[in-house]
Amino acid sequence: MAAGDDRVLIDAGLSYRALRQRLDGVGVDPDTLGAVLITHAHVDHVRGAAMLSRKHGIPIHATGGAREGWGRGADKVAGWEALLAGRPVAFGALRFIPFGVSHDADEALGFRIETPDGAIGFATDVGQITDDLVARFSDCRVLVVESNHAVELLRVSPYAPSVRMRIGGDGGHLSNEALAGFIREHLGAQVRCIVLAHLSRTNNVPALAELICREALTAAGRPGVRVVVAGQDQPTPTIDLAGLAPAPVSPVQAAQQVSLPFGGSSARA
Ligand SMILES: [Zn+2]
Ligand SMILES: [Zn+2]
Repeated sequence: MAAGDDRVLIDAGLSYRALRQRLDGVGVDPDTLGAVLITHAHVDHVRGAAMLSRKHGIPIHATGGAREGWGRGADKVAGWEALLAGRPVAFGALRFIPFGVSHDADEALGFRIETPDGAIGFATDVGQITDDLVARFSDCRVLVVESNHAVELLRVSPYAPSVRMRIGGDGGHLSNEALAGFIREHLGAQVRCIVLAHLSRTNNVPALAELICREALTAAGRPGVRVVVAGQDQPTPTIDLAGLAPAPVSPVQAAQQVSLPFGGSSARA
């Protein structure tokens, strides 16, 4: 996530080598990253974080729960900064407001990110939509939100019953259908773009996730909202918040353009 020269990575779930390739792919020198913010300590969110931190001197911002659950590699982190739900942290023009989400990891977080071009809602591992998440997302212009599995594909999945229960439970992952329910009932009037994130390779199909999302947008009377499906194998196209604005871009806004290169994290489950 970037605004001008301020760049912040949310999670680092790929290997260090893969992270370098992805960052190269979107033209970001890792030495220019101001921070890595960690949503939670599951391996698909932290795999390459310690190495990235050590090699480039990047501080890792994480909750106490994430730090305790980190496991191997925690000692390699160049520097820790505390993240706390409800306590904002700013990097230049980017202001992150962490909030707790329903997921089976200690102190798992989503973010509301305030920028000169509007707010972004970010939540990739959420077993259920909570009132707090609805409130945090209410006036966002872009949402990056989990669309992990199709309920029916999870039901017939090769995963063990206990794993299927976990994924589909309130502390697991958001289904295409649950996201569609959120869109029909709670989608904020400012939303211009939804990025479907954290899709399961086994229990979802990108075209199906997109179709269910578009159907919900149409039902909500919002067919003009752009839908982007984030894949696991390549970076998602950069989304320019200023470019989504209905009003002409002023020279000041142009100087502070905010862009979002996604694709840094792999999805589990
Ligand atoms: Zn997780
Ligand atoms: Zn995850």
